[in-house]
Amino acid sequence: MEADQVPGAASRLLVPTYRRPDVVFARGQGSTLFDAGGNKYIDFAAGIAVTALGHSDPGWAAVLADQAGTLDHVSNLFHSVPQLVLAEKLIQASFADRVFFSNSGSEANEAALKFARKWARMNHGDDKTHLVAFEHGFHGRTMGALSLTEKARYREPFAPLVPGVSFVPLNDLEAVRRVVNDQTCAVFIEPLQGEGGVRPAPASFLRGLRELCDMHGALLVFDEVQCGLGRTGSLWAHQASGVVPDIMTLAKPLAGGLPIGATLVTEEVARSIEVGDHGSTFGGGPLVCRAACYVFDRINQIGLLDDVVEKGRRLRAQLAELPSDHILEVRGEGLLIGVEFSRPVKPLTEHALRQGLIVINAGDNVLRICPPLTIEQSEIDAGMSILAECLDVLDVVGSEG
Ligand SMILES: *Cc1c(COP(=O)(O)O)cnc(C)c1O
Repeated sequence: MEADQVPGAASRLLVPTYRRPDVVFARGQGSTLFDAGGNKYIDFAAGIAVTALGHSDPGWAAVLADQAGTLDHVSNLFHSVPQLVLAEKLIQASFADRVFFSNSGSEANEAALKFARKWARMNHGDDKTHLVAFEHGFHGRTMGALSLTEKARYREPFAPLVPGVSFVPLNDLEAVRRVVNDQTCAVFIEPLQGEGGVRPAPASFLRGLRELCDMHGALLVFDEVQCGLGRTGSLWAHQASGVVPDIMTLAKPLAGGLPIGATLVTEEVARSIEVGDHGSTFGGGPLVCRAACYVFDRINQIGLLDDVVEKGRRLRAQLAELPSDHILEVRGEGLLIGVEFSRPVKPLTEHALRQGLIVINAGDNVLRICPPLTIEQSEIDAGMSILAECLDVLDVVGSEG
């Protein structure tokens, strides 16, 4: 199919769940994408914080080719080596004792939800089913994960969802205290919210949640699907807080661009799960797990996380200097950065794309910057000059369009 036929075909053939610009990417290399016409784009989005090593990393591609030519898929009815190698890496580097593999962030959260319910039932009887999640939080779009996602626009067309979820304002510990009780089974939180506007939860808040969970015998679940695995400059976004969850979910960058989800749990949680309680045909397959092992080792290579911290610090400083009256706040950590504007950023992301910069939003008014962790400083600078030149588009009256 020719590139110029793609937008038309998409509008004819696909279920219309996304509105996409007309650009058709043909090739990627590092932090750059090229469209079918050979035009170049600096990538400040990394496929929504997914391609942590950049596009088509040669080492990653080589490992994939090798695994594809060796052992592709056996299902979870049988063992396969890469799954165990990856499990061991994740467990050694975290609080967790065991891991369940699936294929996406939503699925990782579905597993977390089911495990939490089963744990509560086995240990506390049938009534401990109440759940707590946060305003502006995002945990996915499948029915269970959607039940924990606050945004009315996403939820309302599909009601009724899983009952018994309380949504609380982020970072309002008093409000959490009012809803958590002995029937609470789990509290779900992104230590740094992504989709909902790049909103951090401070260490004191995470500590407060841990205390409330302990007081009421509830599980604390950290959704690090977007903020985990080096994105904030530490391996886990919650690391600096010193707070340890009972369950943590991972996905987006874990296999460097292939679909994967992982639900990490303590032995205490795993003890309540038995054969047949959950499953996945594809989850933890040899191909994705081999890729994920490679990505995980690269993220943990000496210097990479320090670079993420340094690049993030400079980028936030550069963003804070941008000459725009419409910027309200620059926030985030490492290379997950949000710039909140006083108006919708859609005209800005569209214009930037035409000028060769891929940048996305997180909610209507927040520009989200989450490039590959390996992006070069010169590429950040080049992207920033494009962004600076595009800001005027927000001055146009009616740009809210
Ligand atoms: C993207 C995201 C999800 C959902 O992941 P999918 O792979 O799209 O199902 C869940 N939680 C967070 C924090 C996310 O950013």
